[in-house]
Amino acid sequence: MEEQLLREKKLRVTPFRKKVLSIFLRAENTLSLQDVEDKIGKHDRITLYRTLKAFTENGILHEIVMPGDVKKIALCPPVCKGGDGHHNHDHIHFKCKKCNEVFCIEQSHVPKIEVKGFKIETIEVQAQGICENCI
Ligand SMILES: [Zn+2]
Ligand SMILES: [Zn+2]
Ligand SMILES: [Zn+2]
Repeated sequence: MEEQLLREKKLRVTPFRKKVLSIFLRAENTLSLQDVEDKIGKHDRITLYRTLKAFTENGILHEIVMPGDVKKIALCPPVCKGGDGHHNHDHIHFKCKKCNEVFCIEQSHVPKIEVKGFKIETIEVQAQGICENCI
């Protein structure tokens, strides 16, 4: 699974990259850098940063910044091509006010917004409320 995904994105396969990817594949919601560092055990920070950067640039991972929260990282949906920081996502980001977790939620109707004179490339929808685990 990890190896296939890396090959699809034309990234070099290394044991460390596979390990980082497996953390995200197993995660149920988005992870902070701290979460990743805790899960991965002993590691070289620079290598981790570089790995995350390569994954983010190639449509494997995307970053989510919710107001007043630390940056979160999550897997991209398979349709995402990534590259040049352009991500193609049809999902929204949801932050639970109770458990503070941030989720990527697949949504078939993300509203399309057009603004005259501006070329919108990506729209990110952020929602807050109570997640299904906390209701
Ligand atoms: Zn993406
Ligand atoms: Zn919750
Ligand atoms: Zn997301």
